[in-house]
Amino acid sequence: MKLKLILLALLVSNFCQVNAQQKNRTENVILITFDGLRWQEVFNGADSSFMKQQVYLKDPKLKEKYWRDDLMERRKALLPFFWNTIATQGQLHGNRDMGSKVNVTNNQLFSYPGYNEILTGSADNDRINSNDKIYNPNTTVLEFLNSQPAFKGKVAAFSSWDVFPYIINDKRSGVYVSTGVEEVKGTSLTEAEKMMNKMILNLPNPLGEVRLDAFTFYYGLEYLKKNKPRVLYLAFDETDDFAHGGEYGAYLNSANYTDKFISELWAYLQSDTKYKNKTTLIITSDHGRGTTAEEWKSHGQKIPVADQIWMAVMGPDTPAIGEIKNDEQLYQNQIASTMGALLGVEYKNARKPGAVMSTVIKK
Ligand SMILES: [Zn+2]
Repeated sequence: MKLKLILLALLVSNFCQVNAQQKNRTENVILITFDGLRWQEVFNGADSSFMKQQVYLKDPKLKEKYWRDDLMERRKALLPFFWNTIATQGQLHGNRDMGSKVNVTNNQLFSYPGYNEILTGSADNDRINSNDKIYNPNTTVLEFLNSQPAFKGKVAAFSSWDVFPYIINDKRSGVYVSTGVEEVKGTSLTEAEKMMNKMILNLPNPLGEVRLDAFTFYYGLEYLKKNKPRVLYLAFDETDDFAHGGEYGAYLNSANYTDKFISELWAYLQSDTKYKNKTTLIITSDHGRGTTAEEWKSHGQKIPVADQIWMAVMGPDTPAIGEIKNDEQLYQNQIASTMGALLGVEYKNARKPGAVMSTVIKK
């Protein structure tokens, strides 16, 4: 009798726990990264001094497209979805001019260490300190989720940079990772996928091994429509590549195209009952860059301010407080735990991920 009571009590407490974890409305999470897009452009729009540097640029309409004397209008011209939609329905963190700070905690300040920190919730300076194609010994939140019955086979990543299969450790994790300049394969390709497959091998690619972001996005969108994953990661790359090349105009254009991709994605999500009002977007970058006319092109340990990043979140559990205009400090290592918490799962690994960001989840 006593045993039965104890069992009943255990069942009830278990039920309550599950219930407590399921109170969020988020059932799906889409993580999006812009490689090395600075917070300065996100919050201040195009920088006129860098634009002047680029007068020789091929794009004569650059100033017309992105320059406005008014800061609010200027940043809206560069990232209209951020400033029309996320600023009114979500949250934008990282405007240091207002006191809102987001930093990475790794001391490397380049891509693999940044993506490792985003996806695993902790820096690993001893082992993750190059961009080499080395399978990640750490377990990402994508792998963690994919190991849970409710998410098994419903976690996917589309990346422009071909190091992501290693960062996500697709071999071990079983997470589907699409990358590289190659055709997507499958038995039930959509018309759009067939067309992209024809184009991807027959277009000049200025980025070499890196897939152009438009392919990453539209392949990812087709996959989303077909397979309805619960967790999707879209990792864009062009902003970083063009910045390294000193192509400020191309860097701005790429940020602007990606903003349009996110707008198109959001419109689709809100039109599909599987996703509508049940999906949270988390958007961020792997690292920042320098601040001077020369140093904006680069990042890494020689440029300590490259630890400054930004973050945008929008979804049914996230209070619509827009641009954060007060003192706060968030870290890149909090993203993985927050993705888990939004989905009602406590993300754990051996390296103690950063804390859940309470500001992005309604009490
Ligand atoms: Zn870079």
